[in-house]
Amino acid sequence: MSNSSLPAHIEESVNALVVPALLPTVESLPQRSPIERLLSPLDQLAENSERLFSKSLGEFQSAGQTYRVPRYVFLGPDGGGNTIRIGVFAAIHGDEPEGTFALTRFASLLEANPQLAQGYALFLYPVCNPTGFEDLTRHSRSGKDLNREFWSESQEPEVRMLQSEICLQAFDGIVTLHGDDTSDGLYGFVGGSVLSESLLEPALAAAEKVLPRNRNHVIDGFDARRGIINDGYRGMLKHVPNLPRPPFEITFETPQKAPVHLQVEAFVAALKTILVEYRHLISIAQNM
Ligand SMILES: [Zn+2]
Repeated sequence: MSNSSLPAHIEESVNALVVPALLPTVESLPQRSPIERLLSPLDQLAENSERLFSKSLGEFQSAGQTYRVPRYVFLGPDGGGNTIRIGVFAAIHGDEPEGTFALTRFASLLEANPQLAQGYALFLYPVCNPTGFEDLTRHSRSGKDLNREFWSESQEPEVRMLQSEICLQAFDGIVTLHGDDTSDGLYGFVGGSVLSESLLEPALAAAEKVLPRNRNHVIDGFDARRGIINDGYRGMLKHVPNLPRPPFEITFETPQKAPVHLQVEAFVAALKTILVEYRHLISIAQNM
């Protein structure tokens, strides 16, 4: 595909997802790379915001072009305690743009309703695999499934940047967004803190108002219960191995064949619920 155009169905989704009153449409912007065009509404939002900041992780070269792993930080109003740091990662598989759209939508929503993020610093990574995203492939342009490369001395620049970021930010929680074209419903993986399952269950319940939950006993080859898998692939995007107090970790999967706007709505409902529930769990723990 050319560097200056997005596939029509993606372009439509982008235009439908941004808040029309606040943001220009993609067509009104000058020609840029597909990812820059896709994220330009978010950049415009950040330019005029006191809470949303845009700063990419770093740059790398592929096929003579420069790419960056974009990062946005949303600082919620003070919650009275320690700021809770959550990382949300999308499109580590380049052919799953639904998560990217969801983070664009989620950032607009936070900007309009900052109290949703009270007590939080939210680190949003809408395109973790920029070359795969541009090529519409699961793998990066180097041929690697980046979601099997973490903490295994990978030489992939995206993985190395994301690993340093995960070390540096010391997240309280990590959420990754995926779409699964083999699933008819929503499901997720949990890892890290024992709290993870107590967060995924209500997140699935909230998202289930939009799309069905996958209630099969085996999903993606793993044992599952009510759409929750207590396992995962080696090399998935995760926290630093062997931490004494790991963050909560949720990998949230939408049925990728469902309409894009419903997947976006399901992701946003899940993210909002995780923020509410984690704040609640933390306040209980602090009062014990
Ligand atoms: Zn995926």
